[in-house]
Amino acid sequence: MLPLMKAPLQDASLAAPEYVPATLPRKQPRAHPDSWTDVLVIGAGPTGLACAIEAQKLGLKVLVLDKGCLVNAVYNYPTNMTFFTTPELLEIGDIPFACASQKPTRQEALEYYRRVTEHYHVHISQYQWVKTVTGQDGDFRVTATDRSGKIHDYRTKKVIVSTGYYDLANKLEAPGEDLPKVLHYYKEPYPYYDSDVVVVGGKNSAAEAALDLWRHGARVTLVHRGENISPGVKYWVRPDLENRIKNSEITAFFKSTVQEIGVDQVVLKTPKGPTRIANDFVFALIGYHPDYDFLSSLGLELSDEQHRPVCDPETLESNVPGIYVAGVIVAGSRTSEIFIENGRFHGKQIAAHLRQKLKPNRDRSELE
Ligand SMILES: Cc1cc2nc3c(=O)[nH]c(=O)nc-3n(C[C@H](O)[C@H](O)[C@H](O)COP(=O)(O)OP(=O)(O)OC[C@H]3O[C@@H](n4cnc5c(N)ncnc54)[C@H](O)[C@@H]3O)c2cc1C
Repeated sequence: MLPLMKAPLQDASLAAPEYVPATLPRKQPRAHPDSWTDVLVIGAGPTGLACAIEAQKLGLKVLVLDKGCLVNAVYNYPTNMTFFTTPELLEIGDIPFACASQKPTRQEALEYYRRVTEHYHVHISQYQWVKTVTGQDGDFRVTATDRSGKIHDYRTKKVIVSTGYYDLANKLEAPGEDLPKVLHYYKEPYPYYDSDVVVVGGKNSAAEAALDLWRHGARVTLVHRGENISPGVKYWVRPDLENRIKNSEITAFFKSTVQEIGVDQVVLKTPKGPTRIANDFVFALIGYHPDYDFLSSLGLELSDEQHRPVCDPETLESNVPGIYVAGVIVAGSRTSEIFIENGRFHGKQIAAHLRQKLKPNRDRSELE
């Protein structure tokens, strides 16, 4: 057999990236001149985009980084989700959201935010996960890692943190929760046909998933610690679910929790005592929470009980001068207090403060 030989590289630009063994120290990242910005926004959700647009309107140089794609959280919502909000209340940057029906779909929202981003030429680097923010007001250093593990280093005068809450799911805290059949995000019903599925939760996500699963051939048991389906469930979803429960098409356990999860069964803690049921999949749709550790790592002070970042309610500047908080993270663990409808205004609030603090460069051509 011929010995394996390395073929000579024809084109230097096609050379494979340098292999960096994990045991050796990495090269120190160095700020590239292009990576200087006036404002760096962490998170390209609806709020982060609104903040970037309003800061850009001041003539500031703005960069948005997101660990995923543009509006990553919305992208990860159930495939066929319809918003409870009418389109005009999801608008950012004063761009109309034209939509055929009364409530936009996830797909329409994805298209809308993409078009708004294009319209304003928002500078966004996707798939860059911000790991650290150091420095001080006027000269922060932001370090992000991309999908290949490469480190990117940025310098910025101000930082806006709008990292949302959808990356971290609330846990059931029940034995067996780590089994692969336990899921915290719902996308589509098709993999669960002819399966015994437990849906935990009593709000919109759980209600809609339970109905969708049942409509596509799953045997659904809803488990909710409350007495009833939450009154906040979409007005067109709630009666539908209540009727399915009344007709015994979906089994519901109220004032109940999941006690233990096994490979093919689940034990529920119900008012009538422990109840064991057959089970193939569990959807624990009991909410999500901001990444408190990340926020704390930036030096942000969080309130004791609800983990709300301490900030000026007018300007949204946090206890760290030059770092602003925006969007749902402002509400800490009370994630239902701030959503797109009201969080989108944080951009204008922060921009009003930036106008005073930074001398906007009116000639945008110098910035691009
Ligand atoms: C199923 C569902 C339906 C909903 N329906 C509605 C509705 O009808 N109306 C409404 O107003 N609200 C609705 N909401 C709530 C709404 O989607 C959120 O409140 C909103 O997305 C919050 O916006 P945000 O910009 O603050 O955060 P997000 O949209 O969560 O954006 C945060 C972004 O930050 C990125 N990120 C996080 N950490 C980092 C990091 N370290 N580095 C870089 N990037 C990072 C994430 O990838 C993400 O893209 C719904 C929520 C869910 C789950």
